[in-house]
Amino acid sequence: MKLLRYAIDGEVHIGVLHGDEIMRLGVRNMTELMLADAAFVETGMLDNLADARILPPLLPGKILAIGRNYAEHARELDNEIPQEPLVFAVMPSAVIGHGEVIEWERTITQQVDWEGELAVIIGQTARKISESDALDTVFGYTIANDVSARDLQTRDKQWTRAKGMDTFCPLGPCIVTADDIPDPQALQILTSVDGVEKQNGSTADMIFDVRFLIAHLSRAFTLNPGDMILTGTPSGVGKAQKPPQFLGEGSEVSITIEPIGKLTNRCTVL
Ligand code: MG
Repeated sequence: MKLLRYAIDGEVHIGVLHGDEIMRLGVRNMTELMLADAAFVETGMLDNLADARILPPLLPGKILAIGRNYAEHARELDNEIPQEPLVFAVMPSAVIGHGEVIEWERTITQQVDWEGELAVIIGQTARKISESDALDTVFGYTIANDVSARDLQTRDKQWTRAKGMDTFCPLGPCIVTADDIPDPQALQILTSVDGVEKQNGSTADMIFDVRFLIAHLSRAFTLNPGDMILTGTPSGVGKAQKPPQFLGEGSEVSITIEPIGKLTNRCTVL
């Protein structure tokens, strides 16, 4: 099932996507739907996708992110392969939706880079969960762009600004529920910038897979419905291009992970 959060005439709705129509559900947000325990309240109302403004599929609670979770990506930036997950946090206020604009000030950063990633949406409270039970806590999956200011990432020594600035966490376009993605380690991640393919990876190549990450993170944090895990990016980021390439005014980044779809955002430099 593909779940969308969208606005029509200024009102926000949650719905199930069927082709070019959206079946409106009687819940106010994605977390309410998770807690409704699949008792979907169908309103019987249909909206046209063409009339809808797509919003971020959810407003996450915690955003826990994993750095260098693909060996080839660690190597392309001359980093060591991590022995345990490299965990950092992204500000929930960085989230934007499909079609919204990634923006930054030229005086703050001049090295803005793309990172196409599979995002895991937690649907049940999890604390000290085992790897074998970990996938049961997943509500669904979406696509994230872990936009990264490489100059700040180096200069600040940690990544709060580099990856947490407003608009630096595009999400969407929809959430595909976990029952439709039985194996999160069998997905292709394709990233293109201005129509040119930059990343072509597989979640099969994660160093620490989704089960392991959920179990590992749940030993440090209580994972709550609506929390999200960014699982890391495959090789092909801008800093590793020869010569290095960064996003600029008007750049368009698209990340495709089927069956979720394609997340596209343009950039504006202020
Ligand atoms: Mg990343």
